[in-house]
Amino acid sequence: MNGTQLLNNIAEIRKVAEAEIAAINTLDEASACKVKYLGKKGLVTSVLQQMRDVGAEERPKIGQEVNRLKSHLEDVLQNLQEKLNTQRLEMAVASADVDVTLPGRPRPQGALHPITRIQEEALHILRGMGFSVAEGPECETDYYNFTALNFLPDHPARDMQDTFYVGESHLLRTHTSPVQIRVMEKQKPPLAIVAPGAVYRRDADVTHSPMFHQIEGLLVDKDVRMTDLKGVLTDFLQTLFGKQFSVRFRPSFFPFTEPSTEVDIQCVFCTGKGCRICKQTGWLEIMGAGMVDPEVFKSVRYDPNEFSGFAFGMGLERMAMLKYHINDIRLFFESDLRFLKQFIGRGA
Ligand SMILES: [Zn+2]
Repeated sequence: MNGTQLLNNIAEIRKVAEAEIAAINTLDEASACKVKYLGKKGLVTSVLQQMRDVGAEERPKIGQEVNRLKSHLEDVLQNLQEKLNTQRLEMAVASADVDVTLPGRPRPQGALHPITRIQEEALHILRGMGFSVAEGPECETDYYNFTALNFLPDHPARDMQDTFYVGESHLLRTHTSPVQIRVMEKQKPPLAIVAPGAVYRRDADVTHSPMFHQIEGLLVDKDVRMTDLKGVLTDFLQTLFGKQFSVRFRPSFFPFTEPSTEVDIQCVFCTGKGCRICKQTGWLEIMGAGMVDPEVFKSVRYDPNEFSGFAFGMGLERMAMLKYHINDIRLFFESDLRFLKQFIGRGA
């Protein structure tokens, strides 16, 4: 076959194909037509193979024509298939095979547990202030949980009443403070860490659970002062609860800080006016804090004359109860979907 014959052949294929396509009514017919012309053994493909027989000077012209035909047929068939698809859907809806008025099937949606959510939010704020996250074991020794934190041997917190002991030498940590000791043993100042995690105490009622969660914070450097503590904690609490709530500091006592302070936030339920939840005081106790006691520094071989620091600890259940207005701590641990579902899609 010479070049002229091949060009006539291409024009002929185009004419026949267009006539065939014009008569197509179904998607099956469209697919068959595509195979017939554009498939591996299709008519257009076979023209390309016949090009081997024509002279080199004629090939570019023929190649161009074949490609033009190929993309023309591809476009036409593509449009046709789309049109037929739409028609099929419209027919299915019209013939009531598909009832578009039926309600959709709901997909069950998961959500973060309120404790996870408040923890993530608190850590997000604290990370932004420069604290990094540290973790420690939940099963601790008496040394890390009490002794290194300056709890005297007769301190009531060591009592069997409060602490879950695991054998003779181990216990379930009663607070996240042992992480402070573990970090300071390995790292020299300056350091700023927060340690979130589960803690355990033998206690259970509407506001106490035998397992609950805390976030511990520790900052050590040269010349750290009480005003630094007050600034960091005020900023943290007002970012978490809102700038409209004032924060106040009351003197308190903890074995591992000196001086120590209770931190109160203006009642988030009555904005300080006085209500049942704040017992008409207008304030809610929200965390404990203080300047790291020099005795604690001595147990990790920091020089108390060179370094100072502050520490703080807060209960996450309490934070979540205040933030999400929950009145019974046990709701967090019952896995009742009616409770948990209220947090789906709620902004943290
Ligand atoms: Zn109140």
